[in-house]
Amino acid sequence: MRLSKSLIPTLREVPADAEAISHRLMLRAGLVRQLAAGIYVYLPLGQRVLDKINAIIREEMNAIGGQEITMPVLQPAELWQQSGRWESIGGEMFRLKDRNGRDMCLGMTHEEVVAWLAAREIRSYRDLPQVWYQIQTKERDEARPRSGVLRTREFLMKDSYTLDPDTAALEKSYAAHKSAYCKIFDRCGLRYLVVESDPGMMGGLGSHEFMAPSAAGEDEVAVCPGCGYAANVELARGIPTAPTFPASPREEVATPNAKTIAAVSALLGIDPRLTVKSLLYVGVKSGPVLALVRGDHTIHERKLVRALGEEVRPAHPDEVREHLGAGVGSVGPVGAKVPIVADDALKTGRWVVGANREGYHLRGVSAGVDFECRFADLHTATAGEGCPQCGAPLTIERVIEVGNIFKLGTKYSVPLRAVFLDEAGQERPIVMGSYGIGPARVAAAAVEQSHDADGIIWPWALAPFHVHVVLVGIRDPDQEAAAESIYRSLWAAGIEALLDDRDERPGVKFKDADLLGVPVRVVVGNALAKDGVVEVRSRATRVERRVAPGEVVRAVPEVAAGRS
Ligand code: ATP
Ligand code: MG
Repeated sequence: MRLSKSLIPTLREVPADAEAISHRLMLRAGLVRQLAAGIYVYLPLGQRVLDKINAIIREEMNAIGGQEITMPVLQPAELWQQSGRWESIGGEMFRLKDRNGRDMCLGMTHEEVVAWLAAREIRSYRDLPQVWYQIQTKERDEARPRSGVLRTREFLMKDSYTLDPDTAALEKSYAAHKSAYCKIFDRCGLRYLVVESDPGMMGGLGSHEFMAPSAAGEDEVAVCPGCGYAANVELARGIPTAPTFPASPREEVATPNAKTIAAVSALLGIDPRLTVKSLLYVGVKSGPVLALVRGDHTIHERKLVRALGEEVRPAHPDEVREHLGAGVGSVGPVGAKVPIVADDALKTGRWVVGANREGYHLRGVSAGVDFECRFADLHTATAGEGCPQCGAPLTIERVIEVGNIFKLGTKYSVPLRAVFLDEAGQERPIVMGSYGIGPARVAAAAVEQSHDADGIIWPWALAPFHVHVVLVGIRDPDQEAAAESIYRSLWAAGIEALLDDRDERPGVKFKDADLLGVPVRVVVGNALAKDGVVEVRSRATRVERRVAPGEVVRAVPEVAAGRS
């Protein structure tokens, strides 16, 4: 590709509304342009990067027996009504009506269509297992599209689905996908963690996320440097150190105007770890429930939802008063007439809790003695807490979710009647798995992990081009001929080259080369006439080698590999 004839609109200025580094650099390097909130155009360089990622994904999917298909984006509502997700998914789903008034939606994912297809095409155990995949557009009306292509409302997803006769076979298919995903992200040059995760709206028997560490990430994972335990904080268990409890009897203490944990502990002169936060929630099915966590802890609402088996919302202040007889900040478990669920950290100890009386707290309160409750892991794991497997201190990392895999089980095959006949002629539901990767997120995560002040530093495997040939003297026939011949011989050798043949100052060309981040730069300039050489330089290390034009093809892989 010749820059003089290309659509590679680089920008000097940092776009004002772009915060994430990948967003800024992908705009500046001319990879993408935003059409509307969370809706992007991929320009030629962006398209080439996506193509690279998709090619890697296809190879690894094919290697585990994946068969590529294409399922429609536009889908009838009936399938989603059958699975129950027409109701359970809220504003994230784009819904529309066709000209006959039939409800339709734009696919956010394709479990329903896969189950529909399996219900028609799979007859017997002899047809199983199957691995189907596609690289297809997804539409999700995300609440907060942001950070450029990291979270968009329309995006490409590689989604694959496994169909198995039983859970033992699903385990095998799942393991094959898990290792294929590792190969994909390894080949993409990403640093990533594989963590346990909450299956959320997918439901099912278990799931893992593939997380690329980056400050731009929206997720957090707890990682144990000791034993390798890693889990999304939505799920991660941190074992807190227990405080020492004073041997105070149960008594009511006046705490005028002290409504927060900090105020109560300051007033009583105690460690905040001796206090309990009492938070009233309302479950969508079973109404009010009081959740308790230690004063210095933060409740994780997803954990509460899992513990209760239903969605919840925080109670309004008037609901708190109605059910507990006092305002937020003075409430507690003793005498409460609502079900109580307490964090595991509160199992033993003598705590300071709200007295359900304005301006008072109780001290010396114990679970099981002064109030009844059930226990669950409710608090958000924090750095320094003990690993649930080995006890070593956990660290918390910010990450970008690049892939997610789910053991679905029969959640979709039962309602959509995707069944098969087993060896005994018995009808059984197909056991499904579902697996997703967002190629654009992979690209953005790669930029987040590999850049410097001057621009992107692409790994070879994802780079839109391998070599950026900079022709300095565009009116110098010798330089022009050399650049042209280097450009052609690189392509002939299977190395993808970009030729900067624009009528621009050298400084502009060098800046653009750094910004685009192609792994190797070849400068054809004055050194050609003077010493008969061109300069071959690594974008990552900036190590440079001077070679004769005829040596460039041989030098490029060596310079890219860091051998100078
Ligand atoms: P998130 O929690 O970030 O919203 P998700 O759990 O909804 O992601 P999945 O439904 O599992 O994501 O989708 C599979 C993959 O598709 C994700 O791992 C991610 O790489 C990609 N992806 C999901 N949502 C988006 C989006 N809005 N924009 C770009 N890529 C996305
Ligand atoms: Mg999502």
